[in-house]
Amino acid sequence: MVKQGITPDELTKPFLDAANEERLVIQNCTACDRLQHPPAPECSECGSGDTLEWKEMSGRGKIYNYGVVYDTPIRLLQDDQPFNAAVIMLDDDPGIQMYSHLPGVPVDDVPVGASVEVIFEATANGQLVPEWRVVG
Ligand SMILES: [Zn+2]
Repeated sequence: MVKQGITPDELTKPFLDAANEERLVIQNCTACDRLQHPPAPECSECGSGDTLEWKEMSGRGKIYNYGVVYDTPIRLLQDDQPFNAAVIMLDDDPGIQMYSHLPGVPVDDVPVGASVEVIFEATANGQLVPEWRVVG
């Protein structure tokens, strides 16, 4: 499934540049020792914008839950309906959640709780984005 092209902005550029190098990085506040995603201009805990850095993740996670999308407003994805939309919890910090279509997993047959690892898929404009694949 080919997703909409994504153009980096100032906030998402480090995340997307890392994705193009097939690395998963998440914003981390060095003052709070706390990860946050999606990226924000300031730490949502202490409000500082000066203490945010980008930290590389292990790329491992677990499936927290999922839904099935039957009626997306995104025209590019409508040919692929229905599709899975799973919530992934990162092993590095279960408080950090990312979404995945779980390529290769049959629709509505998602193994909740299963381990996943990050992969990278090209969107319509060539930008790579993180996706997740069931392991084991
Ligand atoms: Zn902070």
